[in-house]
Amino acid sequence: MEILPENLRSLRGQVAIVTGASRGIGRAIALELATQGAYIIVNYASSSRAAEALVEEITTAGGQALALQADVSQAEQVDALFNSVMEKCDRIDILVNNAGITRDTLLLRMKPEDWQAVIDLNLTGVFLCTRAASKIMLKKRSGRIINITSVAGQMGNPGQANYSAAKAGVIGFTKTVAKELASRGITVNAVAPGFIATDMTSKLSNTEEILKFIPLNRYGQPEEVAGMVRFLAADPAAAYITGQVFNVDGGMVMA
Ligand code: NAP
Repeated sequence: MEILPENLRSLRGQVAIVTGASRGIGRAIALELATQGAYIIVNYASSSRAAEALVEEITTAGGQALALQADVSQAEQVDALFNSVMEKCDRIDILVNNAGITRDTLLLRMKPEDWQAVIDLNLTGVFLCTRAASKIMLKKRSGRIINITSVAGQMGNPGQANYSAAKAGVIGFTKTVAKELASRGITVNAVAPGFIATDMTSKLSNTEEILKFIPLNRYGQPEEVAGMVRFLAADPAAAYITGQVFNVDGGMVMA
Protein backbone atom coordinates (compact mmCIF):
# COMPACT_ATOMS: atom_id res chain seq x y z
CA MET A 1 0.00 0.00 0.00
CA GLU A 2 1.01 3.61 -0.50
CA ILE A 3 -0.16 6.52 1.62
CA LEU A 4 -0.94 9.47 -0.64
CA PRO A 5 1.14 12.66 -0.42
CA GLU A 6 -0.18 14.92 2.35
CA ASN A 7 -1.96 17.42 0.06
CA LEU A 8 -3.91 14.60 -1.63
CA ARG A 9 -5.08 12.84 1.54
CA SER A 10 -8.84 13.40 1.54
CA LEU A 11 -9.25 11.99 5.07
CA ARG A 12 -6.21 13.47 6.80
CA GLY A 13 -6.75 14.08 10.50
CA GLN A 14 -9.84 11.88 10.58
CA VAL A 15 -10.43 8.79 12.70
CA ALA A 16 -12.21 5.81 11.09
CA ILE A 17 -13.45 2.72 12.90
CA VAL A 18 -13.80 -0.32 10.64
CA THR A 19 -15.50 -3.26 12.34
CA GLY A 20 -14.29 -6.70 11.26
CA ALA A 21 -11.19 -5.25 9.63
CA SER A 22 -8.84 -8.19 10.19
CA ARG A 23 -9.85 -10.00 6.99
CA GLY A 24 -11.72 -9.70 3.70
CA ILE A 25 -13.71 -6.62 2.79
CA GLY A 26 -13.04 -4.86 6.12
CA ARG A 27 -9.30 -5.24 5.65
CA ALA A 28 -9.50 -3.71 2.15
CA ILE A 29 -11.62 -0.84 3.50
CA ALA A 30 -9.09 -0.18 6.28
CA LEU A 31 -6.24 -0.06 3.75
CA GLU A 32 -8.17 2.19 1.38
CA LEU A 33 -9.11 4.71 4.09
CA ALA A 34 -5.53 4.60 5.40
CA THR A 35 -4.16 5.60 1.97
CA GLN A 36 -6.35 8.69 2.29
CA GLY A 37 -4.67 9.61 5.57
CA ALA A 38 -7.29 8.46 8.09
CA TYR A 39 -6.23 7.00 11.45
CA ILE A 40 -7.71 3.50 11.29
CA ILE A 41 -9.17 1.55 14.19
CA VAL A 42 -8.83 -2.08 13.09
CA ASN A 43 -11.56 -3.88 15.02
CA TYR A 44 -11.58 -7.68 15.07
CA ALA A 45 -13.15 -10.52 17.04
CA SER A 46 -10.46 -13.20 17.31
CA SER A 47 -7.85 -12.79 14.53
CA SER A 48 -5.38 -10.76 16.58
CA ARG A 49 -2.40 -11.75 14.42
CA ALA A 50 -4.10 -10.68 11.20
CA ALA A 51 -5.24 -7.42 12.81
CA GLU A 52 -1.75 -6.63 14.11
CA ALA A 53 -0.25 -7.51 10.70
CA LEU A 54 -2.61 -5.01 9.06
CA VAL A 55 -1.65 -2.31 11.57
CA GLU A 56 1.99 -3.07 10.81
CA GLU A 57 1.35 -2.80 7.06
CA ILE A 58 -0.35 0.57 7.47
CA THR A 59 2.20 2.04 9.87
CA THR A 60 5.16 0.79 7.81
CA ALA A 61 3.71 2.66 4.84
CA GLY A 62 3.56 5.83 6.95
CA GLY A 63 -0.09 5.66 8.00
CA GLN A 64 -1.67 5.38 11.43
CA ALA A 65 -3.69 2.48 12.81
CA LEU A 66 -4.54 0.67 16.03
CA ALA A 67 -5.99 -2.83 16.47
CA LEU A 68 -8.79 -3.15 19.04
CA GLN A 69 -10.52 -6.42 19.86
CA ALA A 70 -14.27 -6.34 20.51
CA ASP A 71 -17.19 -8.59 19.72
CA VAL A 72 -19.44 -5.90 18.29
CA SER A 73 -22.59 -7.95 18.89
CA GLN A 74 -22.10 -7.34 22.64
CA ALA A 75 -23.23 -3.99 24.06
CA GLU A 76 -20.59 -3.80 26.82
CA GLN A 77 -17.79 -4.62 24.38
CA VAL A 78 -19.01 -1.95 21.95
CA ASP A 79 -19.05 0.63 24.75
CA ALA A 80 -15.53 -0.39 25.78
CA LEU A 81 -14.35 -0.16 22.14
CA PHE A 82 -15.71 3.35 21.65
CA ASN A 83 -14.37 4.48 25.06
CA SER A 84 -10.91 3.22 24.10
CA VAL A 85 -11.04 5.05 20.78
CA MET A 86 -12.09 8.30 22.46
CA GLU A 87 -9.35 7.94 25.09
CA LYS A 88 -6.75 7.36 22.42
CA CYS A 89 -7.93 9.65 19.57
CA ASP A 90 -10.57 11.96 21.09
CA ARG A 91 -12.67 11.89 17.92
CA ILE A 92 -14.54 9.56 15.58
CA ASP A 93 -15.30 10.81 12.08
CA ILE A 94 -16.12 7.65 10.14
CA LEU A 95 -17.76 4.40 11.18
CA VAL A 96 -17.83 1.46 8.78
CA ASN A 97 -20.12 -1.28 10.07
CA ASN A 98 -18.58 -4.18 8.20
CA ALA A 99 -18.30 -7.11 10.67
CA GLY A 100 -20.54 -9.96 9.59
CA ILE A 101 -20.98 -13.72 9.64
CA THR A 102 -23.04 -16.34 7.86
CA ARG A 103 -24.70 -19.45 9.30
CA ASP A 104 -26.28 -20.77 6.11
CA THR A 105 -28.89 -23.51 6.08
CA LEU A 106 -32.39 -23.96 4.73
CA LEU A 107 -35.22 -22.60 6.85
CA LEU A 108 -36.51 -25.98 8.06
CA ARG A 109 -33.06 -26.91 9.34
CA MET A 110 -32.23 -23.52 10.79
CA LYS A 111 -31.72 -23.66 14.54
CA PRO A 112 -32.73 -20.69 16.68
CA GLU A 113 -29.03 -20.23 17.57
CA ASP A 114 -28.13 -19.97 13.83
CA TRP A 115 -30.80 -17.31 13.47
CA GLN A 116 -29.81 -15.44 16.60
CA ALA A 117 -26.04 -15.38 16.03
CA VAL A 118 -26.47 -13.78 12.60
CA ILE A 119 -29.06 -11.25 13.77
CA ASP A 120 -26.94 -10.40 16.84
CA LEU A 121 -23.85 -9.49 14.83
CA ASN A 122 -25.13 -8.44 11.40
CA LEU A 123 -28.03 -6.31 12.64
CA THR A 124 -27.76 -5.64 16.40
CA GLY A 125 -24.02 -5.00 16.03
CA VAL A 126 -24.78 -2.29 13.45
CA PHE A 127 -27.29 -0.71 15.83
CA LEU A 128 -24.89 -0.80 18.82
CA CYS A 129 -21.92 0.71 16.93
CA THR A 130 -24.05 3.32 15.14
CA ARG A 131 -25.62 4.42 18.42
CA ALA A 132 -22.21 4.72 20.09
CA ALA A 133 -20.66 6.61 17.14
CA SER A 134 -23.59 8.95 16.63
CA LYS A 135 -23.42 10.15 20.27
CA ILE A 136 -19.89 11.38 19.52
CA MET A 137 -20.60 12.65 15.99
CA LEU A 138 -23.69 14.61 17.13
CA LYS A 139 -21.54 16.82 19.36
CA LYS A 140 -19.35 17.98 16.48
CA ARG A 141 -22.24 17.96 14.01
CA SER A 142 -20.47 15.88 11.38
CA GLY A 143 -19.76 12.25 10.59
CA ARG A 144 -20.03 9.48 8.05
CA ILE A 145 -21.61 6.11 8.79
CA ILE A 146 -21.34 3.39 6.15
CA ASN A 147 -23.11 0.07 6.63
CA ILE A 148 -22.15 -3.03 4.66
CA THR A 149 -25.35 -4.81 3.71
CA SER A 150 -25.73 -7.37 0.88
CA VAL A 151 -27.66 -8.20 -2.27
CA ALA A 152 -29.13 -11.02 -0.14
CA GLY A 153 -31.03 -8.34 1.82
CA GLN A 154 -32.49 -6.99 -1.42
CA MET A 155 -33.31 -10.12 -3.41
CA GLY A 156 -33.20 -12.99 -0.87
CA ASN A 157 -31.02 -16.08 -1.17
CA PRO A 158 -32.02 -19.69 -0.41
CA GLY A 159 -30.21 -20.91 2.71
CA GLN A 160 -29.78 -17.41 4.08
CA ALA A 161 -33.08 -16.54 5.80
CA ASN A 162 -31.16 -15.28 8.85
CA TYR A 163 -28.57 -13.37 6.82
CA SER A 164 -31.08 -11.87 4.35
CA ALA A 165 -33.32 -10.73 7.20
CA ALA A 166 -30.40 -9.07 8.98
CA LYS A 167 -29.11 -7.39 5.81
CA ALA A 168 -32.60 -6.16 4.82
CA GLY A 169 -32.87 -4.85 8.38
CA VAL A 170 -29.63 -2.93 7.89
CA ILE A 171 -31.16 -1.20 4.86
CA GLY A 172 -34.24 -0.07 6.80
CA PHE A 173 -32.03 0.95 9.71
CA THR A 174 -29.76 2.96 7.37
CA LYS A 175 -32.68 4.94 5.94
CA THR A 176 -34.24 5.67 9.33
CA VAL A 177 -31.00 6.75 10.99
CA ALA A 178 -30.12 8.84 7.91
CA LYS A 179 -33.36 10.76 8.46
CA GLU A 180 -32.76 11.12 12.21
CA LEU A 181 -29.17 12.36 11.88
CA ALA A 182 -29.35 14.45 8.68
CA SER A 183 -29.98 17.73 10.47
CA ARG A 184 -26.79 17.19 12.49
CA GLY A 185 -24.50 16.87 9.49
CA ILE A 186 -24.13 13.09 9.73
CA THR A 187 -24.70 10.99 6.63
CA VAL A 188 -25.65 7.31 6.78
CA ASN A 189 -25.41 5.10 3.69
CA ALA A 190 -25.22 1.42 2.88
CA VAL A 191 -23.10 -0.53 0.42
CA ALA A 192 -24.53 -3.79 -0.92
CA PRO A 193 -21.87 -6.13 -2.29
CA GLY A 194 -22.76 -9.12 -4.42
CA PHE A 195 -20.35 -12.08 -4.39
CA ILE A 196 -16.92 -10.90 -3.27
CA ALA A 197 -13.88 -13.20 -3.06
CA THR A 198 -13.23 -13.53 0.70
CA ASP A 199 -13.17 -16.28 3.34
CA MET A 200 -16.96 -15.88 3.57
CA THR A 201 -17.54 -16.98 -0.03
CA SER A 202 -14.61 -19.40 -0.31
CA LYS A 203 -16.78 -22.12 1.29
CA LEU A 204 -19.38 -21.93 -1.52
CA SER A 205 -19.22 -24.86 -3.94
CA ASN A 206 -21.80 -23.77 -6.55
CA THR A 207 -19.63 -21.11 -8.24
CA GLU A 208 -20.85 -22.01 -11.77
CA GLU A 209 -24.44 -21.58 -10.65
CA ILE A 210 -23.67 -18.24 -8.95
CA LEU A 211 -21.88 -16.80 -12.01
CA LYS A 212 -25.09 -17.20 -14.05
CA PHE A 213 -26.62 -14.44 -11.91
CA ILE A 214 -23.71 -12.01 -12.27
CA PRO A 215 -23.82 -10.03 -15.54
CA LEU A 216 -20.10 -9.16 -15.23
CA ASN A 217 -19.49 -12.93 -14.90
CA ARG A 218 -16.98 -12.88 -12.03
CA TYR A 219 -16.74 -12.44 -8.28
CA GLY A 220 -15.85 -8.94 -7.08
CA GLN A 221 -12.68 -8.11 -5.19
CA PRO A 222 -12.69 -6.59 -1.67
CA GLU A 223 -10.89 -3.52 -3.08
CA GLU A 224 -13.86 -2.85 -5.36
CA VAL A 225 -16.14 -2.53 -2.32
CA ALA A 226 -13.51 -0.44 -0.53
CA GLY A 227 -13.49 2.08 -3.38
CA MET A 228 -17.19 2.78 -2.85
CA VAL A 229 -16.67 3.17 0.90
CA ARG A 230 -13.82 5.63 0.29
CA PHE A 231 -16.10 7.69 -1.95
CA LEU A 232 -18.89 7.75 0.67
CA ALA A 233 -16.42 8.83 3.36
CA ALA A 234 -14.98 11.65 1.25
CA ASP A 235 -15.77 15.29 1.71
CA PRO A 236 -17.14 17.13 -0.21
CA ALA A 237 -17.60 14.38 -2.84
CA ALA A 238 -20.32 12.53 -0.92
CA ALA A 239 -21.53 15.31 1.41
CA TYR A 240 -24.97 15.49 -0.24
CA ILE A 241 -25.66 11.75 -0.22
CA THR A 242 -27.55 10.08 2.62
CA GLY A 243 -29.97 7.20 3.16
CA GLN A 244 -28.85 5.44 -0.03
CA VAL A 245 -27.86 1.88 -0.88
CA PHE A 246 -25.03 1.46 -3.40
CA ASN A 247 -24.64 -1.91 -5.08
CA VAL A 248 -21.18 -3.25 -5.87
CA ASP A 249 -22.34 -6.51 -7.37
CA GLY A 250 -21.29 -6.90 -11.01
CA GLY A 251 -24.84 -6.02 -12.04
CA MET A 252 -26.74 -8.63 -9.99
CA VAL A 253 -29.36 -6.16 -8.79
CA MET A 254 -30.65 -3.60 -11.25
CA ALA A 255 -33.42 -1.37 -9.96
P1 NAP B 1 -14.95 -12.38 6.27
O1 NAP B 1 -13.84 -12.46 5.29
O2 NAP B 1 -15.51 -13.63 6.85
O3 NAP B 1 -14.46 -11.41 7.47
C1 NAP B 1 -15.33 -11.14 8.52
C2 NAP B 1 -14.72 -10.12 9.45
O4 NAP B 1 -15.68 -9.86 10.50
C3 NAP B 1 -13.45 -10.59 10.10
O5 NAP B 1 -12.56 -9.50 10.21
C4 NAP B 1 -13.93 -11.04 11.49
O6 NAP B 1 -12.96 -10.91 12.52
C5 NAP B 1 -15.03 -10.02 11.74
N1 NAP B 1 -15.95 -10.48 12.78
C6 NAP B 1 -16.62 -11.67 12.86
N2 NAP B 1 -17.35 -11.71 13.98
C7 NAP B 1 -17.13 -10.54 14.63
C8 NAP B 1 -17.61 -9.98 15.83
N3 NAP B 1 -18.47 -10.65 16.62
N4 NAP B 1 -17.17 -8.75 16.20
C9 NAP B 1 -16.27 -8.07 15.43
N5 NAP B 1 -15.82 -8.54 14.26
C10 NAP B 1 -16.24 -9.75 13.87
O7 NAP B 1 -16.19 -11.59 5.66
P2 NAP B 1 -16.29 -10.62 4.40
O8 NAP B 1 -16.65 -11.41 3.22
O9 NAP B 1 -15.12 -9.72 4.35
O10 NAP B 1 -17.59 -9.78 4.80
C11 NAP B 1 -17.53 -8.47 5.35
C12 NAP B 1 -18.92 -7.86 5.33
O11 NAP B 1 -19.39 -7.81 3.98
C13 NAP B 1 -19.96 -8.67 6.10
O12 NAP B 1 -20.88 -7.79 6.73
C14 NAP B 1 -20.65 -9.46 5.02
O13 NAP B 1 -21.95 -9.85 5.40
C15 NAP B 1 -20.65 -8.45 3.90
N6 NAP B 1 -20.81 -9.04 2.57
C16 NAP B 1 -19.89 -9.93 2.10
C17 NAP B 1 -20.09 -10.45 0.82
C18 NAP B 1 -19.12 -11.42 0.21
O14 NAP B 1 -19.42 -11.92 -0.87
N7 NAP B 1 -17.98 -11.70 0.80
C19 NAP B 1 -21.21 -10.09 0.08
C20 NAP B 1 -22.12 -9.19 0.60
C21 NAP B 1 -21.90 -8.67 1.86
P3 NAP B 1 -12.03 -12.17 12.94
O15 NAP B 1 -11.01 -12.27 11.83
O16 NAP B 1 -11.43 -11.76 14.23
O17 NAP B 1 -12.92 -13.36 12.99
